[in-house]
Amino acid sequence: MGKHIVFAVPPGHGHVNPTLPLVEELVARGHRITYLTGADLLPKVAAIGATPIETPWAMPERPPGPFKFSVEMFAGMQAMMRQLAEQALPGLLEHFQQDRPDVICFDGFSPIGVMLAAKLDVPMVGLMPSMAFNEHHTLRDMIVRGGMAADEQLDKAMAAMAEGQAAFRASLGLAEPATGVLSLGPSAPLNLVFVPREFQIAGDSFDNRYRFLGPAVGSRADDESWQPPADGSPVLFISLGTAFNDRSDFYDMCVEAFGNSRWHVVMAVGSRVELPEAPANFEIAAHVPQPAVLAATTVFLSHTGMNSTLESLYYGVPLVSVPQMPEQTVNGGRVVELGMGRQLDPEAITAQLLRDTVEEVATDPVIRANVTKFGEQLRTVDGPALGADALEELLGS
Ligand code: UDP
Repeated sequence: MGKHIVFAVPPGHGHVNPTLPLVEELVARGHRITYLTGADLLPKVAAIGATPIETPWAMPERPPGPFKFSVEMFAGMQAMMRQLAEQALPGLLEHFQQDRPDVICFDGFSPIGVMLAAKLDVPMVGLMPSMAFNEHHTLRDMIVRGGMAADEQLDKAMAAMAEGQAAFRASLGLAEPATGVLSLGPSAPLNLVFVPREFQIAGDSFDNRYRFLGPAVGSRADDESWQPPADGSPVLFISLGTAFNDRSDFYDMCVEAFGNSRWHVVMAVGSRVELPEAPANFEIAAHVPQPAVLAATTVFLSHTGMNSTLESLYYGVPLVSVPQMPEQTVNGGRVVELGMGRQLDPEAITAQLLRDTVEEVATDPVIRANVTKFGEQLRTVDGPALGADALEELLGS
């Protein structure tokens, strides 16, 4: 019998996109999905058959240019999201008391799903668009791997954040500590991770409560079409994703590095910067249909956000990583460890270095063989079906 399943996900493309193929699968199996996210992403979820409900959302203002991560800033962001969620909670509770869900699937980056599940006393399921955390791979490990000093200041900031989150859980009667500080909820009985186990750090140390579904593109693959150049030039795709992408200096350097080269360059620059003037061999846009572009790409020069990384590997495309924040440094580092690309220090790049590294990755036969094999493996896994099976098992349907 069809169940009522709620998804509560912060409105970032990187958070919503990996859930879409799972929602499509659940809708196809006859379940009813109510999807809570921010206004910008509502049309996307409505288009695949979910009932959208807007949740309030805001991110702190930040100066343009390189992003400087700090744990304090992260904790401040979480406090802000908690405050917004508290304001929205009474209205949402009233709604869901009339139309009770059977389960709430929550992305722990926003507290709203956990709050609703606790208040309504319905089961919760974690949704993880990026690496999962446990005692073998903690949020602290990730921050340190991402380039921050493992010093007293970091420990103090982490302790303050953990304390704030413990108080939050206690206020909801959820006393059990989270396994990873990023996951605001208690450790859920089921966690759907949109990362393949082979890519997850300490992948073998996660028990059966974690299901590693890997990436999937679902109907995004056919939604928007894109045609590769008719002359057969190899495609270089450049993007810093949708969040930390206001880097005009980087885009200008790419134009200098690859203008009038052998590459057909597709460059997605986001909506925070003006489109740079495009040389004849460049296509520049704020946003491109990434799955369609990747399907014809030779090398992806990427910020290595988790979705971009995995979508690239899914299509067998090697990466040159230019991370903009610690998590992306970790993802790019994992790509290098698995022999599927190179990583550059974004503070130390030059046009020449970009050019040389892209050529090296494009022509390295070992990288090519590794990424082709990895992509083939990823495409044999039906992640949305595995996720839907796990949810149905939990719900007894
Ligand atoms: N994306 C897209 N077109 C663009 C840029 C990004 O479709 O021009 C999608 C991309 O396919 C991915 C998501 O937006 O699914 C970005 O997520 P990611 O985790 O890579 O990075 P974030 O934007 O969260 O930093």
